[in-house]
Amino acid sequence: MLIVQKFGGTSVGTLERIEAVADRVIETKKSGADVVVVVSAMSGVTNQLVEYGEHFSKDPNGIAMDLLLSSGEQVTTAILAIALNAKGYPAVGLTGAMAGIYTDEVHTKARIENINTARIKSELSSGKIVVVAGFQGITKGGDITTLGRGGSDLSAVALAGALNADLCEIFTDVDGVYTTDPRIEKKAKKLATISYDEMLELASAGAKVLQNRSVELAKKLNVKLVTRSSFNHNEGTLITLEDNNMEKVLVSGIALDKNQARVTLRGVIDKPGIAAEIFTALAKKNINVDMIIQNVGQDGTTNLGFTVPQNELELAKDTMSSLSAAKHVEYDDAIVKVSIIGVGMKSHSGVASLAFETLAREGINIQMISTSEIKLSVVVDQKYGELAVRVLHDAYELDK
Ligand code: ADP
Ligand code: ASP
Ligand code: MG
Repeated sequence: MLIVQKFGGTSVGTLERIEAVADRVIETKKSGADVVVVVSAMSGVTNQLVEYGEHFSKDPNGIAMDLLLSSGEQVTTAILAIALNAKGYPAVGLTGAMAGIYTDEVHTKARIENINTARIKSELSSGKIVVVAGFQGITKGGDITTLGRGGSDLSAVALAGALNADLCEIFTDVDGVYTTDPRIEKKAKKLATISYDEMLELASAGAKVLQNRSVELAKKLNVKLVTRSSFNHNEGTLITLEDNNMEKVLVSGIALDKNQARVTLRGVIDKPGIAAEIFTALAKKNINVDMIIQNVGQDGTTNLGFTVPQNELELAKDTMSSLSAAKHVEYDDAIVKVSIIGVGMKSHSGVASLAFETLAREGINIQMISTSEIKLSVVVDQKYGELAVRVLHDAYELDK
């Protein structure tokens, strides 16, 4: 039996919390399982490091930035390994590089390419608990990389997949996956299970309880994934394949993404190749474009709007300023995206209209809309974001 346990920032936020994590890991080890532990940096540390890194430049050198960002996880990994050893349980702490986690070269949002598990396996077979720093890897050339914010979840899932673990437990500061962020809506309900697809949409829509790429990988590698609290022993949420026998709920969750900004290009020449020029330029800078809206052209020109992550807005502005197609550009970072997710939406109509009516009744103006098979997203003014989540949660009776 092999279990991968990942502990997030709040769970390792103080020395007392790290001691509690050590006890929890020992509990698992005592049950007879081999344990690989993945840890995040102490809560707040990565944000602080980002600020330091961006103090001298909006677009800091990638190798240096990742050297900086990866340091937070190295600290908690080392302390946890020391704590476990001190408690009489032999443990080894490994950086991503020492653990054999190889990535591409896209600094600050690298993708894992392969994991050489030899070191971890040999440490496990000598009876040790293996602690691995989350959120980081190394390129073939030997440079440290990081995996994008929230990336420790991805480290845990990737290791669970590579090691063929029986279970991957993501320990955090809430009891599991809720119908919406329990910090926004007190009436949110914990879900016993959720499908990979719905979880992926929720995570991509901003529910940071799991990082979206970790869910995608868990589905692909068939990793048994559970989220639960490190502060109690309550049962968590199992993320699993869609069960066709389950009664389909219409809507399973609502997510709020505050890290969004809108870019609007006015008077864009309406001819083939313009969209390609704009979005290729953004892609080259690795900017994640999300919602895209283009109006029907008039008098040979059109308006084009799209959203980007707020923390990539400065880079998007730089990119736009170098394009001849983008003469009149407006930016708005006082927006949020609210999304409604449910596999039941595939087969039911009327889900969208209920959302529109509900928002209209509250006087919340919808600025952009996008839909997929199991998701409806709207962009609204930032000041209405949390209100929108609560009234929609009520409208779909998610507290019932
Ligand atoms: P960690 O540091 O453990 O990785 P995160 O802060 O990344 O934890 O994610 C946990 C947080 O996700 C919770 O504290 C909660 O506020 C937020 N969250 C957002 N949406 C949801 C949801 N649907 N269910 C549970 N938590 C959610
Ligand atoms: N420490 C990193 C972050 O804050 C990775 C993680 O916590 O998953 O984004
Ligand atoms: Mg997280």
